[in-house]
Amino acid sequence: MSKITLAIVKPDAVKAGNTGAIIDHIIKAGFKVKAMKMVRMTKESAMGFYEVHKERPFYGELVDFMCSGPCVPMMLEKENAVAEYRKLIGATDPAQADEGTIRKLFATSKAENAVHGSDSDENAKLEVAHFFSRGEILSNG
Ligand code: ATP
Ligand code: MG
Repeated sequence: MSKITLAIVKPDAVKAGNTGAIIDHIIKAGFKVKAMKMVRMTKESAMGFYEVHKERPFYGELVDFMCSGPCVPMMLEKENAVAEYRKLIGATDPAQADEGTIRKLFATSKAENAVHGSDSDENAKLEVAHFFSRGEILSNG
């Protein structure tokens, strides 16, 4: 089991002023932030990032949403990071997310759901590489 995952504080949460509160939840849950930046994704970047969803009816809406303002991608480290982080954020639809999860607390809809989390170790590696070069990732500490 790999120890890393890629998280994003999505544009809705950045716009609402929840970036700090969300990072606080992540750190208090025992994750280490190994890389972080604030970026406004281009359409090309968002299309590439969510390419797995390109046949889905919500793809265009999702790409536009991810480019609608700045977002904060982070590489996180913890044992069993992918599963642990998805447990912390809760279900895609905040109406179905467990109490206390980040999406329950900060998401407003299934589309504008505050955060992203990788869904596998393989995708975590690809998603980290989408945002960060080697020199932008802490190698220890
Ligand atoms: P993410 O990949 O962002 O962590 P997820 O893995 O919980 O979310 P996915 O099925 O991968 O959910 O969907 C990717 C994103 O697409 C969702 O987080 C949400 O922003 C958007 N999305 C998913 N389903 C819908 C839908 N039915 N209508 C609108 N947007 C949707
Ligand atoms: Mg997903």
